[in-house]
Amino acid sequence: MITSRTWAGKRYAVLGLARSGAATVRALVSSGAEVTAWDDDEARRSAILPGTGRGTAGAADGGGGSPRAFPPAARPLHLPAAGPPPRPGEDLTIAPLDDLTGFDALVVSPGVPLNTHPLAAHARAAGVPIIGDIELFAQARAELPPHRVVGITGTNGKSTTTALVHHILQTAGIPALMGGNIGLPILAQAPLPAGGVYVLELSSYQLDLTQSLDCDVAVLLNVTPDHLDRYDSFDAYAASKARLFAMQSPANEAIVGIGDVPSSHIARSLADRGEYLTKVAPGVCLDQRKWPALQGPHNAQNALAAIAVAKVLGVAERDIDRGLESFAGLPHRMEGVGVVGGVTYVNDSKATNPESTAPALAAFDDIHWIVGGQAKADNLDACAPFFDHVRFAYTIGEAGLDFYRLLKGRLVTGYYETLANAVAAAHANAEPGETVLLSPACASFDQFRDYEDRGRTFRELVRALP
Ligand code: ADP
Repeated sequence: MITSRTWAGKRYAVLGLARSGAATVRALVSSGAEVTAWDDDEARRSAILPGTGRGTAGAADGGGGSPRAFPPAARPLHLPAAGPPPRPGEDLTIAPLDDLTGFDALVVSPGVPLNTHPLAAHARAAGVPIIGDIELFAQARAELPPHRVVGITGTNGKSTTTALVHHILQTAGIPALMGGNIGLPILAQAPLPAGGVYVLELSSYQLDLTQSLDCDVAVLLNVTPDHLDRYDSFDAYAASKARLFAMQSPANEAIVGIGDVPSSHIARSLADRGEYLTKVAPGVCLDQRKWPALQGPHNAQNALAAIAVAKVLGVAERDIDRGLESFAGLPHRMEGVGVVGGVTYVNDSKATNPESTAPALAAFDDIHWIVGGQAKADNLDACAPFFDHVRFAYTIGEAGLDFYRLLKGRLVTGYYETLANAVAAAHANAEPGETVLLSPACASFDQFRDYEDRGRTFRELVRALP
């Protein structure tokens, strides 16, 4: 667990007790902070608090008002993170966060929409900073053994690039861990020994909750329209990504993909970094055929960014090459899930917008493309340059009929409603040497719990094929 003396004696409100929230509570309490925490889900509240807390005791005393009571939990349902449980009744209060007066900060999970959540407005009005666990990590850094931090953001490719950088560092024998949007909550992890590298995947939501993270290496892969429900405009979303560099000391390294207009603007705004700015131009990468898990132009970008990071960190060329060659890729991102009757099945369920599906279409010829779900855009324009790679498009989900109408006349297509129907039809149609690709360009929530559930279902359907 990562702890810090700077939190001792301060008061924190923590909203959201899922994995990172629970780890935050433990880290703060273990550091001697006073924490009031809440989650609307009772099971999560019970899990963090063995027995009764001050919130319960306050109500039993007839205290009324805030903090309010909640039913005491007999036993913790599970301990969400390693480390000792908080000391109930001393440092941890479980209570709804009605009144933020006197708190040093409100810590929220990145899932809380800051633009619409009433508590966020309340915190702003009360002058209480709203932060996340990455900001707490940034505050704790001074007490950690000497280390470096790589922060990676972008609309697409963050997880792949983060995992790839981590893998290259491990290949080179450098102590490294992954955190942020990937892996275990950062505050739950054991600090690295001296010389270690923390590789952080940072979504724009996490950046919005971070004020003082000075990355030794900051990476922006790309900025394309996404998550616009959480921002006033596309410019506001791009500005949120650019903050990664604004938080940096100017002599630290910036690596920026320049394959889209907003990213190029951000790169231009960093021109005064001189030699500390590396631009990653889009395009093919000649060595790519040696890297089985890094196919397609998007992975060329991810690989080039990871190579730039590794070079800046002083990793030897030979170790970089070995890392790229042995990288296994991540599940649900262009993941080969089987070859049946000479037809290759590829699970790219993580492609939840047309921009992330486009490179998957670019990576193969003769594709049987399964597309649809809960649409994020009303068009598939970003995919259009690669329609000539598609033999047949099987549209599914909530967007299935619209996509069918949109694609009809431009390529051979049919509406199949469900993933199971689409896989069966693709299996019947595809010829040896062709590829069945699930790359939906849509969110999954219309028919699945999440993109992982959708990808797992696809994998099982493929395994069950005759
Ligand atoms: P993130 O963590 O940013 O969501 P992932 O690495 O998980 O990104 O990749 C998500 C999807 O985005 C992949 O399925 C792939 O199709 C697409 N993708 C990956 N890297 C890029 C990139 N550099 N540019 C555009 N699309 C990409």
